[in-house]
Amino acid sequence: MSTGPTLTLVRGDITHEHVDAIVNAANSSLLGGGGVDGAIHRAGGPEILAECRRLRASHYGRGLPTGRAVATTAGRLAARWVIHTVGPVWSRTEDRSDLLASCYRESLRVADELGARTVAFPAISTGVYGWPMDDGARIAVETVRATRTSVEEVRFVLFDERAHEAFTEQTRELP
Ligand code: ADP
Repeated sequence: MSTGPTLTLVRGDITHEHVDAIVNAANSSLLGGGGVDGAIHRAGGPEILAECRRLRASHYGRGLPTGRAVATTAGRLAARWVIHTVGPVWSRTEDRSDLLASCYRESLRVADELGARTVAFPAISTGVYGWPMDDGARIAVETVRATRTSVEEVRFVLFDERAHEAFTEQTRELP
């Protein structure tokens, strides 16, 4: 019996994906930022930010902890939900791999709670947060493969050729 979801790789802008849930590489404030976070809020409109603010007020006054995930509406995006997760900042001195793995696991857990069957992920932490792309791709692919979930398709949406190559390499190495 196959346990894991089907993995697909796409090169492009995650805000254009037609999936049940789009994962956002947010920061702990949940109030928006640059990179994919900024793109999701720009494309999705103010409804997402309004819901993030409400979540912050009700549950995450001190911020969403690193490695955790929480869902909001997707506003104008062609998705039903945005799942916001906070990746770790890359550290040369401290191994934060488990926190990065936790982002993928927790996002899939939230997706399961929502009943999402198709989920699009960006390469979490590999932008402003500085995680080396090859290692970020390895953790992403290994973690999704190892997670029990009802999600049927996980689509990694890679913004540039380097990211696409790194994820291709990781999926190629698996049997
Ligand atoms: P982080 O702070 O977690 O590093 P970033 O948004 O800076 O988050 O970058 C995460 C990854 O998302 C990077 O590989 C970046 O190239 C990519 N990215 C940026 N914009 C988009 C987008 N619109 N769609 C998909 N991926 C994107």
